[in-house]
Formats: sequence, structure tokens, C-alpha cells
Amino acid sequence: MTRRGRAKKEKPPFEPGLIPAPGELLVWRDGQHFDRWQDLPCTLCGQPTHMRSHSGEPVHKACAEDWITANPVEARLGRFASDLAPKPKSKKGQGDHA
Ligand SMILES: [Zn+2]
Repeated sequence: MTRRGRAKKEKPPFEPGLIPAPGELLVWRDGQHFDRWQDLPCTLCGQPTHMRSHSGEPVHKACAEDWITANPVEARLGRFASDLAPKPKSKKGQGDHA
């Protein structure tokens, strides 16, 4: 086998990217931000949400953005971050994904 490093390629690590500046929007395009199976109370506003931060914290994207704006210093610690810049994807074979 020539493949090294990751044993599986199904689930790449869910790494946060840049932290948006206060007033800017998060980029949460990755499907891992959306838990379609259950909604949990948002840690910021308490309303149910399907959204998850990179660390799995249930939070509305808009709430996270408001929180960054309201807590710019703490925000630099990386509680909420945008997705990594998308990499150009090589073409995947179809049909290997049920
Ligand atoms: Zn919320």
C-alpha cells in the first residue's frame, strides 16, 4: 500500500479556519455544521438549532456572529471560526457513496 497518514478518507478532521472580524459573517459551508438528526438548544440564545460549531457546540450561525461582535477579544481564542478555505477538489468517482 502506498497510502500513508490517514487510514480513512471518509471523514477529514473538522478543522476551523479563520476567525471572522467582528461584524463579519462566518463561512459555514461544511455539512458538518448541520446536524440533521437533532436540534439542541443554542448555547447563546437557548432556542433549538441544528447548527454546530467546529467543536460541536450547538449554536445558531447568526448567534455565533453576534457573539463574535459582542466579544471580539474572546473571539480571538477561536470559539467560532469559519471553515477552512475550500480546496480544489479532484473529481470523485461516483457511486462509492450510498
Ligand atoms: Zn441561537
